[in-house]
Amino acid sequence: AVQRERMVRDLIAARGIHDERVLAAMRRTPRHLFVKDHLRNQAYGDHALPIGSSQTISQPYIVARMSELLEVGPEHSVLEIGTGSGYQTAVLALLARRVYSLERVPELAQAAIPRMRQLGFDNVKVQVFDGTVGWSEWAPYDRILVTAGAPKVPEPLLGQLAPGGTLLIPEGQLNLQKLVIYRKSPRGEIRRKEGEDVAFVPLLGRHGWKPEK
Ligand code: SAH
Repeated sequence: AVQRERMVRDLIAARGIHDERVLAAMRRTPRHLFVKDHLRNQAYGDHALPIGSSQTISQPYIVARMSELLEVGPEHSVLEIGTGSGYQTAVLALLARRVYSLERVPELAQAAIPRMRQLGFDNVKVQVFDGTVGWSEWAPYDRILVTAGAPKVPEPLLGQLAPGGTLLIPEGQLNLQKLVIYRKSPRGEIRRKEGEDVAFVPLLGRHGWKPEK
């Protein structure tokens, strides 16, 4: 708890994240329980860490930054693509009414699901599926967050975004992207705005990068 408090103060708030709800969610989410045992002592530093299957848990600053940019309210239904460890999912679950999260690697989803349950997150549904086609069953979503880097935004996700909704996605090259915000007006028009440089693992799938054979 002491290390987590320090992380929020020195690595997140000091770098310009001021949204109190986001900071509170970061204080409450035990990141050390989302990494492997031997990495626990690194859980409150500001780095991504390996979680198996060639994937990573995102660095805490980026999780906080994306959560802030997404402006998640307590009434919102959120779709997340790329559950990974479930850490960002947990932060979203503290901010939103419901979170639906898709992960393409079964082993990662199978670890994240009991973890969410043990931590008492009962407003989260995780499923193994190609998130580039979205999750039509619970659409539309007030907020959509993609936590893997895409060549461009998958069209089905824009389709599943509610009027007045916001979608945040890293768009660009395989190893370097820009954080892009899409907003859908109440009348359904889409506006796009580019933000800062980020580096995420690739979004693989039908409307993403093509997986290697
Ligand atoms: N937010 C996660 C970060 C995970 S890294 C965390 O903090 O732990 C990105 C994740 O996206 C990886 O787990 C990867 O397997 C997953 N991913 C990549 N392409 C995907 C797709 N098409 N659908 C769902 N998940 C995908």
